[in-house]
Amino acid sequence: MYQELLNNIAALKLEKIYSYLPNYLDSIAKSDVSLVDAMLHLTEKEMIFRHERASKSQIAVSGFPFVKTLKDFDFDYQPSVHKPQMDDFCSLRFMGNAENLLFYGPSGVGKTHLAIAIGVAAASSRQITYFISCHDLIIQLNKAHTENRLEQRLKHFAKYKLLIIDEVGYLPIDKQGANLFFQLIAKRYEKNSTIVTTNQPFSKWTETFNSGAIANAILDRLLHHSHIIKITGPSYRLKGVYDILNDSDHSKEPL
Ligand code: ADP
Ligand code: MG
Repeated sequence: MYQELLNNIAALKLEKIYSYLPNYLDSIAKSDVSLVDAMLHLTEKEMIFRHERASKSQIAVSGFPFVKTLKDFDFDYQPSVHKPQMDDFCSLRFMGNAENLLFYGPSGVGKTHLAIAIGVAAASSRQITYFISCHDLIIQLNKAHTENRLEQRLKHFAKYKLLIIDEVGYLPIDKQGANLFFQLIAKRYEKNSTIVTTNQPFSKWTETFNSGAIANAILDRLLHHSHIIKITGPSYRLKGVYDILNDSDHSKEPL
């Protein structure tokens, strides 16, 4: 009988219940747990296991260069970043309204870290999420354009519930690249959320995208329903250097 039960559970692919059942039966043997309580307990174990497995595999396919969360972020070091606001972003409320987030600030202040923390929260909730640098995104769109499958590629990138485009403005973008980038932003506009990190003020995006008209068209759509997070503090990468110099105000560059 018991073996048949185990076989049925295995055939139904209830992996967690399968491995947990022997111990569970031992533990309830002398108690008066009802059948309903027992089944509820076992099915809850299975559901939590499945949710965690699905979250992990969504995180694994999201392309994050590293996995960090808000717990790893030292808010005392970066007072211009407000924890309640980041907690709110990690609740994914902004995604419900297809709002965009734009992290702006100099190198090393935690833009990518915070974008990833929000991305990890989205992936953990099983929202299809993808992280890509602006440079790689444009390379991929250019390649698809050359191979006559641009529309397919745009659709692919448009479908992510959350797309994180890292490092906009770090490398120059030619007019063709700017045009392709615009097409993607236009496709995602008011449908799905996009997070952008940049070290360039929006006033410089004309130079970044080699065209005032395209830069404006991109900004128009990105900023329409958006939150701008401006980080003004010191680079975390230089934390050790500040410590050595014992520079308590952190306001000036150490080197
Ligand atoms: P940016 O994208 O702004 O250049 P990153 O997010 O890549 O900066 O941060 C650089 C490194 O410093 C990363 O390893 C990141 O996890 C870490 N880091 C940045 N800010 C903080 C912080 N306030 N607390 C903890 N780690 C941080
Ligand atoms: Mg970065």
